[in-house]
Amino acid sequence: MRILVTGGAGFIGSHLCERLLNDGHEVICLDNFFTGRKENIAHLMDNPVFEVIRHDVIEPVLVEVDQIYNLACPASPVHYQYNPVKTIKTNIMGTLNMLGLAKRVRARILQASTSEVYGDPKVHPQTETYWGNANPIGLRACYDEGKRCAETLMFAYNRQNGVDIRVIRIFNTYGPRMLENDGRVVSNFIVQALKGEDMTIYGDGSQTRSFCYVDDMVEGMIRMMNNDKVIGPVNIGNPGEFTVMELASMIRKITKSGSKIVHRPLPPDDPVQRRPDITIASKSLGWKPTIALEQGLVRSIEYFSERINNPKNPA
Ligand code: NAD
Ligand code: UDP
Repeated sequence: MRILVTGGAGFIGSHLCERLLNDGHEVICLDNFFTGRKENIAHLMDNPVFEVIRHDVIEPVLVEVDQIYNLACPASPVHYQYNPVKTIKTNIMGTLNMLGLAKRVRARILQASTSEVYGDPKVHPQTETYWGNANPIGLRACYDEGKRCAETLMFAYNRQNGVDIRVIRIFNTYGPRMLENDGRVVSNFIVQALKGEDMTIYGDGSQTRSFCYVDDMVEGMIRMMNNDKVIGPVNIGNPGEFTVMELASMIRKITKSGSKIVHRPLPPDDPVQRRPDITIASKSLGWKPTIALEQGLVRSIEYFSERINNPKNPA
């Protein structure tokens, strides 16, 4: 198949492109390189069935493809809050453009939605039937409401135009190729621990997250795209739940770091707890994560350690 991956030079997107190429597909990576990097996909450039288009999804594009994975959108709060209006445009105009393309070329389209559609959840663990508790005017709203509206667009195009859609809600995902200055918790703590800098816990560190290793995420995405039973939304994430303090201690232990743990103010609307209910993913897709947090952290730490010691020769 010929497959379009928007946001393909980003963290998850680059792993997805690599896996799709390994599975024998032709891959077109479309990216505006806001948070993506050429070096994430440099090792794929010699492959004759891999193409890169520098393009912004807020502008229409026409390419003949069989499947579209729509990942274009900054995922770290620091990056999506940098230009909130642009984040909204990316989610809404970008998803509209990709749905228009899917309709025109009759491609199946998978939307990378997020656990953030549940906002600061009052139902725990989060099931797909929960409508969420998002602040529509807060600092995270450009992302949360943008992604919620993108889901609405997906279902409207499906009902109105018969577009073949799939929607997954991705929970916190980590691994090699996250940006060092990404601002997300796993990369922040690993880089701080490796450099011997203070590890910055926002608030008291009792808030929880569930961390999924990127290889497990990519497997879940591909299974969802190619299944004929469910269109979604389906939660994809690792149900192991950890406090931010537990994560910091684990990273400090694995890296044998002497970094101090310090506390910084909790950003507004920071969700208190988050854990996916993955019953649908496991029953309908036969998917469950296989890489435990400690194991995934060891692999991620190797990557960041290589980059920090050898910034010109990324792993
Ligand atoms: P990332 O920031 O590394 O990747 C996003 C990619 O999209 C980057 O390459 C960026 O340059 C590109 N991009 C951004 N705006 C664009 C635009 N207007 N036009 C074209 N390209 C654009 O983030 P990621 O962690 O790889 O996330 C990928 C997708 O998964 C995002 O849609 C994100 O919302 C979703 N997601 C990720 C997580 C996570 O924990 N990583 C959790 C929930 C949802
Ligand atoms: N966090 C933290 N220190 C950091 C970065 C993040 O304590 O240096 C916290 C953040 O407040 C949140 C959790 O870690 O409670 C996850 O943050 P991240 O930005 O990775 O993703 P989120 O799930 O909030 O979108």
